[in-house]
Amino acid sequence: MDQRVCQRIVDDAAAICGALLAELRLSAEGGAQRTAALGGALASGPKKRDETARNLRDLAARELLPEVGLERGVRLGRCASEVAQALGVGAPLAPLELWCADVPLLVEEERAGTLRLFVEGEPRRAMLRALRGVGDEASHQLAQEQSRGRALEELARARKNQAALAAAAARLRREGDRGAVLPAIGEELYKLGFDSALLLAEPAGLVVAHLSYKPAVVARALELIGLRRPRELRTLAVPPEKSRLLGSLLNSPEPLVLVRPQALLRALFGKRAPQAVGEELVKLLGLGALLASPLRGAGDSALGILIASPRDPDNPDLGVLSSFALQASLALERVLMRERMSELSRVIEEAVGERTRALREANERLQEVDRRKDNFLANVSHELRSPLVTMLGYTDLLLQERLGPVSDKQRQCLQIAKGSGKRLKAFIEELLDFSRFELTRESMTFQAFDVREAIAQAVAALGPRFLERRLNVRQRVSRGMPPVLGDRDRVLQVLGNLLANAEKHCGDGGKIAVSAEARPGFVLISVLDNGTGIAAVHQPKIFDRLYQVGDVKDARSREQGLGLGLNIVKSIVEAHGGEVSVESTVGKGSTFSFTLPLADAGAAAPGAPR
Ligand code: ADP
Repeated sequence: MDQRVCQRIVDDAAAICGALLAELRLSAEGGAQRTAALGGALASGPKKRDETARNLRDLAARELLPEVGLERGVRLGRCASEVAQALGVGAPLAPLELWCADVPLLVEEERAGTLRLFVEGEPRRAMLRALRGVGDEASHQLAQEQSRGRALEELARARKNQAALAAAAARLRREGDRGAVLPAIGEELYKLGFDSALLLAEPAGLVVAHLSYKPAVVARALELIGLRRPRELRTLAVPPEKSRLLGSLLNSPEPLVLVRPQALLRALFGKRAPQAVGEELVKLLGLGALLASPLRGAGDSALGILIASPRDPDNPDLGVLSSFALQASLALERVLMRERMSELSRVIEEAVGERTRALREANERLQEVDRRKDNFLANVSHELRSPLVTMLGYTDLLLQERLGPVSDKQRQCLQIAKGSGKRLKAFIEELLDFSRFELTRESMTFQAFDVREAIAQAVAALGPRFLERRLNVRQRVSRGMPPVLGDRDRVLQVLGNLLANAEKHCGDGGKIAVSAEARPGFVLISVLDNGTGIAAVHQPKIFDRLYQVGDVKDARSREQGLGLGLNIVKSIVEAHGGEVSVESTVGKGSTFSFTLPLADAGAAAPGAPR
């Protein structure tokens, strides 16, 4: 109640009635009265007012104000002379006749306070009328003040609830799993003025998932329904189709439904909560009217029911409760979704792990088989090569007529045998190369060496062949070329394979060029020929094991090799951390290039090839 309004009422009353003293007493809670304002001719200054009020209260307590009559709502009393004395006005004016009048102030038929006036001499009728008028006016002002106060209180409460709802929403958003969200819902709802229970819709039915009451109260409640631990509550799942009440609450289109506590307890606990137990539970949990709010997820799916018991049953804030239920639905749906996702990813991870294990095992088995096959190939090729070399040796002896003269017919046959034997030897050597590389792949020895020398050595090894075919072979390597890091024998094998291929696919008198260029961190080596070239469709496949361009049944293709040479090249280059590539045009020729790391990786010595 605004102090200025109280003072105005008192001052007006004192002025209209010419009172020595006027006092406004307001009814406080529990029927007590408190002085809200004092006024009148006598009371000047706050100190004096307080003292006077104290004196008057003492006098009233000692019943020194005898009741003399009740005039239409105004209670009148003649004051004894002590009153005047107590008021400090008796001595000079004695015998002073002081009258006291109590005017009740009513708001909505209820006594809201009293206006007490002390006047000199018996009040006349006109004054009594004035007093009633003053009382009516004061009552009216009091009523206005009270409703303004209620509106302000309402506004403050709405603001407080709004802030509490925002805080609750922020907290619910923060909680990441079911274990944290369920108690958070209970605690936040408690702050909003409700005790609560959360029923979650699980596959087996509705389960009490959380109770916001004190642990001791929950323990006692469990005892009453014959359970020992809160966890046992989850065993009492009630399928919603088996309880009309729970089914209708779960699917209710209304945001809030009023429920009778006894009916809810019966629906949830059945025989465990007979009338007597139910009554005790209602008392223990302080259940008045219960409000149930269905919790919905995406696609209107039923997540559960929020049961709230307002701590102030006469004035529950339904708006706050239904807003909160919406937030609780969102929070629940989020954690349930997260649970489903993590369950799903656990299942997927398990399946992937299982599959990876199986693949690793299969891969290990394959590698073992591969190793055995390479061993077998190496042994077989070696065993085939030795008798073949002997046979070729003897063929040469025969052809050179060291064992006696041979006829033309015999020479022709021996030449054919020698040609086929050489081809077979070349095949076997390629096979040996391949299987040896596969077997010793892990035992390569890296060292720094000069590329120029390696190129010269590889070209020289094929010199007689180049001469025979009248091929023009050029080497273009700059002088200051820094050394590369690699297994020199393997690099010679790469160069040998590429040069042999170039030779095979060049026409007689054709051109071959080998070059090396230093680039930052590596060297680029290329073998160029102006031979048949390779069609674009074959280019991506020629490095595959056993891939051959052309028909294998066709004699010329067979003559070329086994389709292993480039695969060996690729494997060796990649084992050095390099790359191999081809550029080719049918009818014009091919360029095969590969890279090798520089021995000093930081060295970048771009030099133009000579
Ligand atoms: P092969 O030992 O059978 O020659 P390679 O792996 O060395 O097998 O070569 C694969 C295929 O690439 C061969 O069938 C051949 O036709 C083709 N090829 C390789 N080098 C050249 C080249 N310089 N010019 C044209 N074709 C080539």
